[in-house]
Amino acid sequence: MDTKHKPQVVIVGAGFGGLQAAGKLDKSLVDIVLIDRKNHHTFQPLLYQVATAGLSPGEIAAPIRWIVRHRRNVEVLLGEVQGFDLDRRLVKLQDMEVPYDYLIVAAGATHAYFGHDDWEPFAPGLKTIEDALEIRRRVLLAFELAERQAASGEGEVRLNFVIVGGGPTGVELAGTLAEISRRVLADEFRSIDPKSTRIVLLEGGPRILPTYPEDLSRSAEEQLKHLGVEVRTSALVTSIEPASVHIGETRLPAAVTLWAAGIAASPLGKTLGAPTDRAGRVLVNPDLSVPGHPEIFVIGDLASLKDKNGKMVPGVAPAAMQEGVATARNIERELRGEPREGFHYFNKGNLATIGRAAAIAEFGRLHISGFLAWLAWLFIHIFFLIGFRNRIIVLIQWAWSYLTYERGARLITGDERLPGWAELQAKKDSAA
Ligand SMILES: Cc1cc2nc3c(=O)[nH]c(=O)nc-3n(C[C@H](O)[C@H](O)[C@H](O)COP(=O)(O)OP(=O)(O)OC[C@H]3O[C@@H](n4cnc5c(N)ncnc54)[C@H](O)[C@@H]3O)c2cc1C
Repeated sequence: MDTKHKPQVVIVGAGFGGLQAAGKLDKSLVDIVLIDRKNHHTFQPLLYQVATAGLSPGEIAAPIRWIVRHRRNVEVLLGEVQGFDLDRRLVKLQDMEVPYDYLIVAAGATHAYFGHDDWEPFAPGLKTIEDALEIRRRVLLAFELAERQAASGEGEVRLNFVIVGGGPTGVELAGTLAEISRRVLADEFRSIDPKSTRIVLLEGGPRILPTYPEDLSRSAEEQLKHLGVEVRTSALVTSIEPASVHIGETRLPAAVTLWAAGIAASPLGKTLGAPTDRAGRVLVNPDLSVPGHPEIFVIGDLASLKDKNGKMVPGVAPAAMQEGVATARNIERELRGEPREGFHYFNKGNLATIGRAAAIAEFGRLHISGFLAWLAWLFIHIFFLIGFRNRIIVLIQWAWSYLTYERGARLITGDERLPGWAELQAKKDSAA
């Protein structure tokens, strides 16, 4: 039996980056403590499907303990990391401290409201399973409340859903909500016409999906319009209130407002004492270590790094995963007495889904739109889902809802109040 003390690697965050690092580190070289405030890993690219009732939470999330069950050198701890003692090399949780020889911080990012945190109660963002369930609740409840009002003879409300932010998340939410109102719910209500629901996507910049080439942005906008989404670009939101969104002097009524506009890195980044960028991401060295602390690495959405071509490594799952692998390799190299290597991001392509059979894809110079791009998106995303069972179930669900337009996870759970509904009734005005 090997009784030698192995270096302890503490990984904060079992997202895409943290899990890869834990999975790749050689068990004969290190012991690992993997800490997360949730007991599950969430496959964020499919969160919008939970938010729009296409999939259930268990289909896109898996218990962390189960994922690493065969890795005997990995201890999983459930807990929220509150900070670090860098001198004593300790990770601080509320009621315990965990020592490390190497630390990998992979705590990701969350949504930001550009200094307007008071908008959050009226415009939830999408980052966790809880967020997705809250969005699902609000969307489904809006239809129910409108039906009840119309059935009681109080007059029909025309539902407006406003999505703020024309990045990938805003686009997929808008496209899927349009599909739900135009197709899924179309025949299920007797007093309202779900097809008349107005879906508005607001983007502050001149075009949606700004990180994609212009031709694909244009195509995405056309595909959204085809699905029935009203796209407004150069529309800077100036305030969000219960039941309305303001763009300067223009007021848009909104039964449900969703936020998909801003990203802020985990506050843990700032506690490392290293320089950060405007979004709070840690400016890491080329090997992903923190300046002045070669034993600490920051990876994934929390890290800010330019690749060898001077382009920012994007905040996407493949980048976080590649950084997790690179960090594991560098720790192993160092333990074997070899020099570390700089990180290079390999971009295999970018895909964004818009709705049923609608997507865009960029593979180098090859740009694809529509059904083929959607198929590529579908298979790539299902392939990366954790767990064989999940992949099969999701594929079957998808095939079923493709053929039947059914969305099986249409459960309203929790509170039956919709923030802003009373205000919407009081104003009773139609769209601006
Ligand atoms: C709605 C949505 C859709 C997306 N779609 C795509 C897509 O289609 N394709 C794509 O490539 N990327 C997509 N992304 C981005 C992708 O999910 C991220 O780039 C990726 O998750 C980053 O990985 P990470 O390991 O840095 O962080 P995460 O995967 O976010 O993991 C961070 C982990 O840290 C834990 N954590 C955070 N703070 C603490 C703390 N204080 N203590 C303990 N644990 C903590 C969290 O619980 C979480 O498990 C999407 C993101 C969102 C939100």
